[in-house]
Amino acid sequence: MTNKLKYFIGNWKMFGDFNSFKIVNKINQYAKKHRSSNKSKIVLCVPNILIDFFNKKLQRKFISLGAQNCYHEEGHGPFTGAISAGMLKKMGSEYIILGHSENRAEGETYKIIKKKIISALNQKLNIILCIGEKYVDKKKGKTFSVIRKQINGSIEKKYNTNKIILAYEPVWSIGTNKIPNAKDLENVIKYIKKDFKKNFKTKKYPNVLYGGSVNKNNVKFLSSVSELDGFLIGGASQSSKKFIDIIKNYYK
Ligand code: PGA
Repeated sequence: MTNKLKYFIGNWKMFGDFNSFKIVNKINQYAKKHRSSNKSKIVLCVPNILIDFFNKKLQRKFISLGAQNCYHEEGHGPFTGAISAGMLKKMGSEYIILGHSENRAEGETYKIIKKKIISALNQKLNIILCIGEKYVDKKKGKTFSVIRKQINGSIEKKYNTNKIILAYEPVWSIGTNKIPNAKDLENVIKYIKKDFKKNFKTKKYPNVLYGGSVNKNNVKFLSSVSELDGFLIGGASQSSKKFIDIIKNYYK
C-alpha cells in the first residue's frame, strides 16, 4: 500500500521574507546533491508573496514550490485581498495545501474547501488536503468517523483524485510536540488508504502523509510506521538545518 517516493513537504505558515531565500537555497542544494537516489520529493509551501521571488532566484530547481491556501473563486474578480489558484500557478506554484485545520478553525466549510479543490484541480495543481481529528474526537473514539467525514465532505467522486495527496494531521499534534503512537497512526493511515480507494474507486492507494510536530528526533520512529508516504512539516521546515536533518534521519 505504500509508495516508493517519499514526500517531505514544508508548510512555512506565516513565516519568511526575502532573506529566507537562504533557507530555500540550502534545501535546494541538498536536493541537488541527493537527486540521483531520487527517492524523495521535496516541496516548500511558502507565503504567496515569496513564491515568484524564490522561483526566479533558484536558477535550477530540485525542489518544488507550493502555496498554503487559495481563494475559492477562480480567475479574477471583485474579491478584495483574494488570490486565486490560477494566480498562484502563474507565480510558480506546483502544489497547494488545502483544508488545513488552522483554516477550518476560522470557519472554512466543506462547501468552500470543495470550491478550492476544484479551482486548484482546474489549474493542475497538486493538492495536499489536510484531515485530522481534534483531541476531544480522539478521546471519544471518533477518529475514523471524523476523518471519513472530512474526506467525503471535501472530495467528490468525479474529481481527479490522482492529484490529491492526503495529509493526516491530528489537530492535537500540531505545534505541540505530541505525536500519535505507532499503532494508532498505522491504523489510521491504513484506514484512510483503504477507505479512499474503495470509495473513489481508484486503481492505486492514495499517498498519505503524516503531519504534526515532526522533527529530527521523532522521524526515525515515524519511519517505522508502514504505509506512510511522507510528511507535512510545519515549524521545523522554517530552518534548513532542521528540515534537512529530518530527511537525513529518515533514511538513516
Ligand atoms: P508542525 O505543523 O510541524 O509545526 O506541528 C504541521 C502543520 O501544521 O502542517
